[in-house]
Amino acid sequence: MVVETPPVRKEKMGQDPEYQARLGAAARKRWQDPGYRALQSAARKKVWQNPENRARHSEAIRKLWQDPEYRAMQNAARKKLWQDPGYRAKQVEASRKMWQNPAYRAQQEATRKQRASQENCVHYWIIDENNVGTCRKCGAVFDFGALQEKFRRLCYRDGAAVLAPGSAHPPVQ
Ligand SMILES: [Zn+2]
Repeated sequence: MVVETPPVRKEKMGQDPEYQARLGAAARKRWQDPGYRALQSAARKKVWQNPENRARHSEAIRKLWQDPEYRAMQNAARKKLWQDPGYRAKQVEASRKMWQNPAYRAQQEATRKQRASQENCVHYWIIDENNVGTCRKCGAVFDFGALQEKFRRLCYRDGAAVLAPGSAHPPVQ
């Protein structure tokens, strides 16, 4: 079995295109081996089965999406994808197939109903240690941390307060 070079070494040699090409070819070759592939996917599965790892992963993703730059990048990439007629046709076809599945339809309908009831709910927020609120009545979820962060960004620019202390609201974005 091929032993991975430690990350430190990878980083050092990362600038060398020849080394990178070699690394890429080696990785491709490894992936062609069904045994290696099975081993990797089993390892990934194991990592994924650990709730702690899963929570860490989704927290990392959540944080990423809070970054406006990352969000803009993702949105631009998605927009570009949808401009491709081939991709669009594939997505439309996939969606059509999904809607033919009664379980999917039922789930979508349930989501729609839940959303409708959430819209009429006077929420009773229970806020967890991550500043994420869950409504005790309807189960709606809201990220108060992101809202606070947005508010902070609106109030302060380059570390200086934009608004006079005591001002009620920052300008709405
Ligand atoms: Zn509610």
